[in-house]
Amino acid sequence: MKRVLIINTGGTIGMVKTSDGYKPNGESFLSLLRNMDVLKAEGMPLWDFIELDELLDSSNMTVGEWNKIGKVIADNYENYDGFVVLHGTDTMAYTASALSFMLEHSSKPVIVTGSQIPLCEIRSDGRDNIITSLIISASDIVHEVCIYFGGKLFRGNRAIKYSSEGLIAFVSPNYPALAEAGISISYNKAYLKEADTEEFCYVPFESIPIGVIKVFPGIQFELFESIMTERLKGIVIETFGTGNIPGNGGTLLPIIKKAFANGTIVIVCSQCPQGSVLLGEYETSMPLKNAGAVSGLDITTEAAVAKLYYLFSKGYTAERIKCLMGKNLCGEMKDEETA
Ligand code: ASP
Repeated sequence: MKRVLIINTGGTIGMVKTSDGYKPNGESFLSLLRNMDVLKAEGMPLWDFIELDELLDSSNMTVGEWNKIGKVIADNYENYDGFVVLHGTDTMAYTASALSFMLEHSSKPVIVTGSQIPLCEIRSDGRDNIITSLIISASDIVHEVCIYFGGKLFRGNRAIKYSSEGLIAFVSPNYPALAEAGISISYNKAYLKEADTEEFCYVPFESIPIGVIKVFPGIQFELFESIMTERLKGIVIETFGTGNIPGNGGTLLPIIKKAFANGTIVIVCSQCPQGSVLLGEYETSMPLKNAGAVSGLDITTEAAVAKLYYLFSKGYTAERIKCLMGKNLCGEMKDEETA
């Protein structure tokens, strides 16, 4: 019989309504799970339950919590066939992205899920999300970090939270869903990762100073100069369309050059969830290309942030990080050749 470890980190799924708003509540949540007969039904894996010492609204997740989740998985890696991480939806895509890098060469399914309505409420979407995540994590088909939500399984580092209200809260705009749970669970085998042949290794992250700058019409880049060149080690610039910025690079170009000289890596993402960055396609993205900014191609901002943490935590040189940021390491972006 398959064994799965459920790791509860907090989030709406285990929250209760209080006079201060929804808050995590571990005790009532575990008894709710224990009372779900379906979780003991034939065909379900055996499961154990563990929770972080402090349950969090996922808005409060930090690199420290990512490391705690990664360490629980690493410490229990050999003892379980799969892992289900219960997590708030707000930063679920960041955590799933972080785990996809942190659990280097992992072949075990790690299914991150949660809900929009607490499990203790009548219309909770958490029920299916937990049941189906447990089934998927014991299926022997999935060998990667995924998000299961609202009937769909997504690659964890390709998903983004798309709705704050809908029960289909996540989408994966640049990579097909890995499975759809209808009458049966139908896997999109062509897009699933194969089991990794290299040895599993847990890579804890360091709290590197990283920033995200969203470009907007009229942005005064000079206001960001000191943090970009002196404080931050990694910067994700969310540009317009295929990588376009205002101002012909007049202000940004020297700042980026100075940032690079100080060992800061600048990666270009798009504000458009769907599609890819293509530096140099327009005159308005040529300055970024000329300054040596890295094209993030079709990576999500969430995955770009996690990847920066990962590469800096590996202790690589700035030159190596710059090179690897533009390459597909674990399915987070398309391959350069197809760019
Ligand atoms: N604020 C909650 C969280 O991210 C939202 C949710 O779980 O849906 O923890």
